Amino acid sequence: MTTFAELGLAPDILRALDEMGYATPTPIQAQVIPLALQGGDILGAAQTGTGKTAAFALPLIQRLLPFANNGTSPAKHPIRALILTPTRELAIQVEEAVQAYTKHVPLRSLVVYGGVNINTQIPILKTGVEILVATPGRLLDHVQNKTLSLSQVNTLVLDEADRMLDMGFMPDLKRIVALLPMQRVNMMFSATFPEEIRRLADSILNSPTFIEVARNETAVTVTQVVHPVHHERKRQLLAHLIKSRDLRQVLVFTGTKLGCNRLANELNKAGIHADAIHGDKTQQERIKALDAFKAGTIRVLVATDVAARGIDIEALPFVVNYDLPHNAEDYVHRIGRTGRAGALGEAISLVSESETRYLRDIEKLIGSTLPPVIVPGFEPGAADVLAFQSRAPRPERHGERERERSVPRSKPATARDALFDAPYVPSDVSRTDSAPALTRPTAKKQVAALFRSPVKPDSAGQ
Ligand code: AMP
Repeated sequence: MTTFAELGLAPDILRALDEMGYATPTPIQAQVIPLALQGGDILGAAQTGTGKTAAFALPLIQRLLPFANNGTSPAKHPIRALILTPTRELAIQVEEAVQAYTKHVPLRSLVVYGGVNINTQIPILKTGVEILVATPGRLLDHVQNKTLSLSQVNTLVLDEADRMLDMGFMPDLKRIVALLPMQRVNMMFSATFPEEIRRLADSILNSPTFIEVARNETAVTVTQVVHPVHHERKRQLLAHLIKSRDLRQVLVFTGTKLGCNRLANELNKAGIHADAIHGDKTQQERIKALDAFKAGTIRVLVATDVAARGIDIEALPFVVNYDLPHNAEDYVHRIGRTGRAGALGEAISLVSESETRYLRDIEKLIGSTLPPVIVPGFEPGAADVLAFQSRAPRPERHGERERERSVPRSKPATARDALFDAPYVPSDVSRTDSAPALTRPTAKKQVAALFRSPVKPDSAGQ
């Protein structure tokens, strides 16, 4: 197995990695680092959890080593690398990683993001930093205020480009790229590649090498379980699962900000300490909630997809899809929060009959079915089944028809259909109160299908 030293990294960087406990490179690191050290442009298809931050940050840092210095003059520390991320949380997390990797080299880094007073960022920018991690909007604020210069940037990284597109950052990105020197190295990472992302890649990258970390190479082992339930009983089921299985550090996803707040309140009323993070919360509120969650003082963190983007909590044991995401790719992002760094994780989805269509999309995307496990006492009623069977087609969203057409309408469809089209057969219910699915061979098979190469004992420390 390749080592970081074999990838050509400098001793001072290797020392930092060693101190962080990184023993061997993850697949994306093994592929990206040698190419990026040579200065080639890279287009990476990788989700969070694969180690992509180190994949772009380590070669970027090494290429800046000739410029590293302890000089006090700001002129000696121009911005040489710019890393753009869609969210503040991800920006903070990436910069923390950069700080750790540069522990033994005199390169400075800083993170700037919106939602906090810009004046606190200006004095540090004035002293000079080589590596700037930023969200696009706040970066442009600084450009407009002339509180930074991008004229010496020689490396650009776009992290989670598809999310930037989703969040409407495309015009900002184009403005930023136009401000950069033409001569530079570019790295762009995205989990998905819709047409607009491909166009963006064409316009920014120079003959890039495309590197894809297939799902089955992800160093993550996630057990997935689906609990069918009437939508009005989801809150009780969630409280029941948390209490009866004594679940802690549970990240729960809801579809809306309102639902997010409401669920956190209801869980608190049920005696389960919970907090909510979503787009309407201030940065301070989000950081406070996250810190309390990481420290274990809050048992459940309820989040929307946007707010949760970039959250990195080592070995987060449980992710709950309280509402199934309408976009199947979000499901993969969500469950990527569990089982980080080789530890086991469990993704629990509470699925009402109106969400079965999304479940089908997810199953198509991940290429395996997620057999339902009914929790005793929370059996979906016959009315639900009828409602499901006679359900009216959901109004189509933009682009959906296209996607559906490209997926063959094969029958028999999924375990979901079997569940809702036929009478319910509680499967393996005797164990659902203790540890549903973890020991079920079918669930193991699903996981194996999703992440085909589970972590081997010798790389389990990754
Ligand atoms: P990322 O996909 O960049 O968000 O990284 C996911 C997590 O894996 C982070 O907590 C990293 O610190 C950790 N990580 C990344 N690369 C390695 C490695 N080679 N060995 C061990 N942990 C790693």
